[in-house]
Order: sequence, then C-alpha cells, then structure tokens
Amino acid sequence: MLLRCTGYGAEELDEKVDAIFQELHIYEELSPGMTVVLKPNLVMTSKPEEAIITHPALVAAVGKCVQRAGAKVLIAESPGGPYTPMTMKAAFRGCGYTDMAEACGFSLYTDCESREVPLPGGVRCRRMAIVSPFLGADYLIDLAKLKTHSMVGFSGAVKNMFGAVPGLKKPELHCRFPEKPEFSEMLLDLCDFLQPDLCITDGIWAMEGNGPTGGTRRDLGVLAASKSPYAVDVCCAKLAGLEAGQVLMLRYAAERGLVPQSIDGLELLGDSLESLSVPDFQKAEASSTDFIDRLPRFLRPAAKKLATPYPRIEKKSCVGCGKCAESCPQNTIEIKDHKAEIDYRRCIRCFCCHEMCPKHVIEIRRLRLFNV
Ligand code: SF4
Ligand code: SF4
Repeated sequence: MLLRCTGYGAEELDEKVDAIFQELHIYEELSPGMTVVLKPNLVMTSKPEEAIITHPALVAAVGKCVQRAGAKVLIAESPGGPYTPMTMKAAFRGCGYTDMAEACGFSLYTDCESREVPLPGGVRCRRMAIVSPFLGADYLIDLAKLKTHSMVGFSGAVKNMFGAVPGLKKPELHCRFPEKPEFSEMLLDLCDFLQPDLCITDGIWAMEGNGPTGGTRRDLGVLAASKSPYAVDVCCAKLAGLEAGQVLMLRYAAERGLVPQSIDGLELLGDSLESLSVPDFQKAEASSTDFIDRLPRFLRPAAKKLATPYPRIEKKSCVGCGKCAESCPQNTIEIKDHKAEIDYRRCIRCFCCHEMCPKHVIEIRRLRLFNV
C-alpha cells in the first residue's frame, strides 16, 4: 500500500497510519495484553531532519494505533557500535525517541540482552545473535527508512532487520560474509527468520546518494506498507529508481519465491506508483562490475579490486572520535595523532566506517577509470 504523506504533522500521520491498519486488517490481528515490538531504523544518533533515522513522529502514530487495539508498545533497536544500556539510552534520547515515548506511554528497550539462536531455514547463515525482544515478540512491526545504501544498494524493510543483531556482532557478520552476494543472502536469512508481521517504510523524508548515513535528504512524501518486507522493498526500491533485479537481496528474494520477480506481480493499494515517483533519485556510489565478467579470467580478480569503491577519510575534517575504528570488522583503522587511518590491505570495503562516522568525513571513492 502506497500513500502520499506530505509531512510529519500528527494529524496527517494519524490518518494515514490508521488507513494502513484498516486496509491491511491489522487491528483484527492485535488484542489486549499483546506486546507489539516496533523496530525503527536508528543506525546512528542523528536528528530526524537529517533523514537517517525513522522519524519519531511516524513511530508515535504507529504506536497509537497499536494502543487503540489494547496492545502495549515496546520500541527496540540496536544501532552500530557497542550495545549497552548507556549507549542505547543516549541513542534514544539523541534521536528524539525518549520524549516521544514518554508522551505516548511507550516503553523503550534498554536492557540490551541478546541470545545466539539457530536459523533453521537459513540458506547462507544458520546461527546468529539476536536482541531478545525480537525473539519473543507477540507481533513485530518493521519501521524502516527509505534510503540508498553504499554496500547493498538499497535500505528498506529487509535491511532494517539487521538492527536486530546486537551492536558489535554486526561487524562479525560483515567478516563472515564480506562479499555482497553472501551478505545479501544472510540479510534474507535473518529477515525470513524474524518475519515481521507488518512493515511500514518511512519515505516521507527519504535519503538519496551515499546512504544510509552520508547521503542527502530527498522529500519523497511517501508512506509504504505491506505485510511482506520483500514486497514493500520492491516498491520502495522502484521509487528510489531501482528495479528489484538491481538489488541483490530482492533478486534473491524472488529466486527464493518470497516475492514476484517484478513489481507487476504485486497488487498495489492506495496511491499509484506513477503519482509518487520522482525523477533522478540519486543512487549510492557503486561500481558496475558487470564488465568484469567479459574480461579474460586471469584479469578478473585484479579488475574487481580496482573497480570496487573504497573508503577515503578526509583527514582535515576527522575529529579522531574512533567511531569508525569501533565499527570496522577487520580492525584495520587506527587513530594516529587524533586522525583515523585505514590500512587498505585488510579492508573488505563493507563501508561500516562510512556508515558510522558522525562527521560524514569518510567518502566512497573509486578509480576514475571505472567511473562510468
Ligand atoms: S568516525 Fe569519522 S570523525 Fe571519527 S575518527 Fe573516524 S573518520 Fe574521524
Ligand atoms: S576500513 Fe571501512 S570499509 Fe574497510 S573493512 Fe574497515 S569498516 Fe569496512
């Protein structure tokens, strides 16, 4: 279901979210006594107007609908970096969630407990640590942000579930699955395991360019909802100018039979895709490596290495906070004389450092030769 939503005013949001709950029969699935876990995207502490996080006003509107059905609201998330009660309280406060939750009577999860669990249906990954509330949720609502993503191309409902993995366990997964295809399959395994009951993606202020944290806000004015994270992502990727086949995790989701191969196979409710589409939505900086398959086999590894974008620190603006080093799965960043430095020999180009830099001074570069 796609809806035009012009801003984050409470009246408009309440009306649109209520329409989603009615149209998708969500009220009938909720009952008094249930605890509904809301999973926003709070990848890093930032102000809602930067379009990095799910806007707290949307979370408030969704939580109020949940309360209307008599259920309780628990907001849970694990951003990048260490996952402790102190860091989590600071993240909620810095993102404007503490005041919102107090005003609405929602609980914020700050105990930071997690458990290692098997993923019985996992194709690529069959075991991982998950933050506790996601394991025992009566009902799970995935509240993603519509953004581009430097590593996997697009960040929406499927990618948002990666926040169910506790803080520093995320870099471990980057290490286990350093290549985009394996990483995308792992994301699908995780999403398939958690199976959110409802997904609402915040595309009111979306992010284009080098998302998920270093891009530019683009005011799309869209709310997208579905009971399927794959279907909502196919629609949102299309709004971001990407066909499902261009985003590996969505291509694999179609191959696994989780979503139709193309948007034409989906039943769309609400406003039409055409009426909500915008021209020239900027993609994340990524190399087209298709041409590599046409090179002689012995040249491919070197060509791939050259063609893959790499992180570059703007030393002048680096404040030496160490957030990049903390998030680097390869421990290949050192702080020397209050400036971060990357040892590229061990860099797997996962862009966790780019994602976590609060000053946005880690650029994504590629050689001009491949800048096509
Ligand atoms: S996170 Fe950014 S500002 Fe902080 S040390 Fe790394 S590059 Fe510098
Ligand atoms: S330096 Fe950055 S891109 Fe390279 S492995 Fe570390 S976090 Fe990933």
